Amino acid sequence: MIGLMMNTPLTIGQILEHAVNIHGDKHVHTILPNGKIHRYNYATLHKRVNQLSNATVSLGINQGDRIATFVSNTFQHLELYFAIPNTSTILHPLNVRLSAIQLEMIVKEAGNDIIFVDNVYADQFANLQDKIQFNHTILINNTNQDINNKDSSLEYEQFISEEDCNFSHDIQDENCAMALCYTSGTDGEPKGVLYTHRAMYLHTLAVNHVDVFGLTESDVVMPLVPMYHAMAWGIPFAAMLSGAELVLHGSKQEQIVDLICETGVTVAAGVPTVWKKHLPEMIRRKQEINTLTQIIVGGEAMPISLIRDFEKELGIEVRHAWGMTEMSPTGTLCTPRKAHEKHSYEKKLEIKAMQGRPIPGVQIRLMNGTDNILPWDGISVGELQVRSPWTVSSYYNTEPTLEHFTEDGWLRTGDLATINSEGYIQIVDRMKSVIRSGGESISSVALETYLMTHPQVKDSVVIGIPDEQWGERPLGVVVLATKNNGDITEILRQYLSNEFPKFWLPDKFVVVDELPKTGVGKTDKQKILRMIASRKHNTNGNDELNNTYD
Ligand code: ADP
Repeated sequence: MIGLMMNTPLTIGQILEHAVNIHGDKHVHTILPNGKIHRYNYATLHKRVNQLSNATVSLGINQGDRIATFVSNTFQHLELYFAIPNTSTILHPLNVRLSAIQLEMIVKEAGNDIIFVDNVYADQFANLQDKIQFNHTILINNTNQDINNKDSSLEYEQFISEEDCNFSHDIQDENCAMALCYTSGTDGEPKGVLYTHRAMYLHTLAVNHVDVFGLTESDVVMPLVPMYHAMAWGIPFAAMLSGAELVLHGSKQEQIVDLICETGVTVAAGVPTVWKKHLPEMIRRKQEINTLTQIIVGGEAMPISLIRDFEKELGIEVRHAWGMTEMSPTGTLCTPRKAHEKHSYEKKLEIKAMQGRPIPGVQIRLMNGTDNILPWDGISVGELQVRSPWTVSSYYNTEPTLEHFTEDGWLRTGDLATINSEGYIQIVDRMKSVIRSGGESISSVALETYLMTHPQVKDSVVIGIPDEQWGERPLGVVVLATKNNGDITEILRQYLSNEFPKFWLPDKFVVVDELPKTGVGKTDKQKILRMIASRKHNTNGNDELNNTYD
């Protein structure tokens, strides 16, 4: 018997409506390219979203069209987050840090005809423009006419200004696609994930759980994670549904401490690289940023030393999350249990450095091969598999394959993990990054996070390089906090030997000025491997691994 409840569709438009009707006076703050802060409230956002939807319809779109954005974290991008799905088309945020070749591949696969482009990315866009012809280009912040202003291009404010402030969206099927995001390509080519209204709505409810992001009406929330990366971890939707204020840093990551001071940010979210970068300034200006009480961290393992610094030096709670673009993206989040209160501080830190427990709605299991389900004993290592209403069931434009999905419909995450008896997962490594030496596995993540606790190590990565005798051997690549005069290989091997068996210790450490990062701030192991393979090391042990990330 079917139950007798209303079946109102769960849509993104409802999140905006709730924010406007209940929290219409709350603000969105954005740093403009000129460094000034732009502010307006959710009521104004709503009107502009409607104008943008009307303007987009006037371009002659069809249901299901994929509309690209090449935009930083701004109020205009937030408007696009709602206006595009409201027209029954699909928002496709492009990762501006991907190479022109990858972008070309993605844009062609997605079939983007319309693109919104932020002037701050004019240079990157020029490379793409050489390869792809868009039917409509709408330019944001293009005051200097930096972008090659082709006949077909329009200026964003002019595009929306004459439009009606009302737009009636009528999405009856919550399973319609609302956005398309590609994975960041850390361990291979980016893959497309097509989100539905329903998945994104349910993900928003789940992350607003008090033990997940736990955002409230009194919060001021700053997603430092780019809006092109897995829908900024769903934070804009979560913040607006809870009535929090939103703070968007534009392309001015160097100003985030000022922004926290000026807007009173209480919760911020970003990858560990970003937090590592800003920590010294945050400590220096500790008094000014005392509104900030919580950071949400994920995308890569959060080193225990960094959690300690945030907690001890700044009194900021660290919430460590694990997820994937494929999971909208949140899968697990680490908050200690009541039973952990009795533990020592160091023991609690060890727990916080784990990736945590599944958020409500997410199911996890650990598999060894196709049939063997492993126990939750904190020791057995297997592939983490997941299922939830906000997990991908097939990649965009491809049939599901056994490489990515099991026969009984679980997503194979490609991550190796343990799960303990309390349901906390610990990511051991990506299957593609695990180092196989003499038939044994070495966890690059475990070595990297332990190296980060050494006072001289500022950043680290461990990769497997081919070895005739052992198959693979680990190579350490480190950025040092201070100049080192001793034999760094000897020092770090000695340090690691406190914790790991001898065969785990990298035979050599290479010192570099900076590690290359992907567009979302993760260490780019593929690039390091390519550089090593093409023998770009020079003879003095330094190499050309340096790169910048902003
Ligand atoms: P990509 O796989 O291209 O990096 P994603 O950004 O979707 O694209 O990354 C998801 C992957 O990032 C996960 O499968 C996992 O390997 C890694 N990851 C995410 N969060 C964490 C975390 N807290 N600790 C360790 N690894 C993480």
